[in-house]
Amino acid sequence: MEEIISLTDEERSIQELVRSISDRDLAPIADDLDRHEKFASGVFKTLGDSGLLGIVIPEEYGGAGGSYLSAVLVMEELARNCGGTALSFGAHAFIGAHNIYKFSNPDQRKKYLPDLCSGKKLAAFCLTEPGYGSDAMGLQARAEKKGSSYILNGSKTFITNGSVADTFLVFVRTGGPGVKGISAFIVERGMPGFVSGKPMEKMGMRASPTTELFFEDCEIPADNLLGQEGQGGYYALQGLDMERTLFSGLPIGLIQGALDIALKYSTERKQFGVPLAAHQMVQSMIADISMNLYISRSLAYSAARKLQNNEKLTLNASYSKLFASEASVKSTLDAIQVLGGYGYMREYKVERLMRDAKLVEIGGGTSQIQKLIIAREVYKQSGYEI
Ligand SMILES: Cc1cc2nc3c(=O)[nH]c(=O)nc-3n(C[C@H](O)[C@H](O)[C@H](O)COP(=O)(O)OP(=O)(O)OC[C@H]3O[C@@H](n4cnc5c(N)ncnc54)[C@H](O)[C@@H]3O)c2cc1C
Repeated sequence: MEEIISLTDEERSIQELVRSISDRDLAPIADDLDRHEKFASGVFKTLGDSGLLGIVIPEEYGGAGGSYLSAVLVMEELARNCGGTALSFGAHAFIGAHNIYKFSNPDQRKKYLPDLCSGKKLAAFCLTEPGYGSDAMGLQARAEKKGSSYILNGSKTFITNGSVADTFLVFVRTGGPGVKGISAFIVERGMPGFVSGKPMEKMGMRASPTTELFFEDCEIPADNLLGQEGQGGYYALQGLDMERTLFSGLPIGLIQGALDIALKYSTERKQFGVPLAAHQMVQSMIADISMNLYISRSLAYSAARKLQNNEKLTLNASYSKLFASEASVKSTLDAIQVLGGYGYMREYKVERLMRDAKLVEIGGGTSQIQKLIIAREVYKQSGYEI
């Protein structure tokens, strides 16, 4: 395939390493993980042993010190075989561990990051509440300062890794309404008053546990406040461009997985005496899938390079998230169509990719919210006020 961007030697070796782990350890168990809603703990152990669970965290804390583009490549390689494992990886490595790295003080970094990079502990990012999803900055969970502790009350929902993580980045209200009243805390499993619910049953991403979390007079040391009180909402917002860019690797991996299956099947299966691939309407679907893959990669890779260079990337990151998410739903549906009735059967894997793909139009800011961000930014950059 044509190269979209030239990768560094390091990025290429990370890509090859994760590709081999994904094909060797994840592909054979992915259907079983999906069917029985199991978490790929063995694969996470292997990723942790290779430092990949801290892919964008500096080596001094046990991370791989990789580029943002290498993180996109890791997501792609995992999602190609199992979207749920990629989702849990991203929740841990990007919005969990990397956000903790970015906004923590030296003592917190030393305390939490080595275990998160090695996989001894996994992370979860806890923003959404039952009444506050897209309107995340309206959240209502509260923390009150009491001596050298904070007392947390409230609940979170749809938390990826909620049942397997030990280290939770939790956003709660310490002040008045709006973004200014929000603070971020590191909460550890086992702190009194912290309860994680049972995994919620899902349509796709079934290898990734999603749970509710409850804080009932949960007492946490004041030292676990991340950064400054009242800044947590801004940390969550600042992390969004990074989240959208790196998570774009997930739908890209799903599209690649769907294309691989459709290419192979369409050259093996014959109808009307010739391979399906010889029929032009089948070729049309293959062309659409591969073009969507190319555009998704172009948007994600350029956003990753901008992120690396500290360039402004709000538009690029939202284009990337929106396009790749919608393209993955369309492409996985097209791939099912290429396989006909067999595509509808579980055995052929492509229906799993489609069920996984639907989530990426919802999580991390829905497609509608991406459009709002894009439109707002376009007006702003064009000098109009709306
Ligand atoms: C499997 C899964 C894993 C998740 N993991 C995490 C996690 O690890 N941590 C975490 O904090 N959250 C997580 N989430 C939550 C996720 O980010 C939210 O589901 C998402 O932000 C949407 O919020 P909502 O589900 O409450 O939908 P709502 O906000 O209620 O939206 C419902 C519909 O209304 C539309 N809508 C809402 N507001 C507007 C508007 N202003 N204009 C136009 N349309 C609008 C939406 O686009 C959507 O179509 C996860 C969700 C799922 C399903």
